[in-house]
Amino acid sequence: MKSYRKELQFNLPSRRAYVNITQQVEKCLAESGVQEGLVLVNAMNITASVFINDDESGLHRDFERWLEKLAPEKPYSQYDHNGYEDNADAHLKRSIMGREVVVAITDGRLDFGTWEQIFYGEFDGKRTKRVLVKIIGE
Ligand code: ZN
Repeated sequence: MKSYRKELQFNLPSRRAYVNITQQVEKCLAESGVQEGLVLVNAMNITASVFINDDESGLHRDFERWLEKLAPEKPYSQYDHNGYEDNADAHLKRSIMGREVVVAITDGRLDFGTWEQIFYGEFDGKRTKRVLVKIIGE
């Protein structure tokens, strides 16, 4: 069995953003040489997510509004977690959007459903964060 590990780094200029990382994951897959297996992609920080959805800007604005309704950033004082930090909303948003995705690898390609793309979701940016790509298979 082959095994491959790589960390991707992100340092986004805004507090919140979505980045399509599908091509970066495909590059990892090509480097791994795996033809049949699984790829795990997970955020290595508890205020960021990795998720799969459509690469459509209207949908991304909808995510932003929806998450702000569920876990508004402000006022910071509404959260017990805030005090030393101001990022309670980011922890909650990350929990909603998820930590990781797993995608099947078939014939050396990501075996996606229609319109599926992999995104990095940042909820407390302006600092360096990591995403793990782990690939196993033959
Ligand atoms: Zn925190």
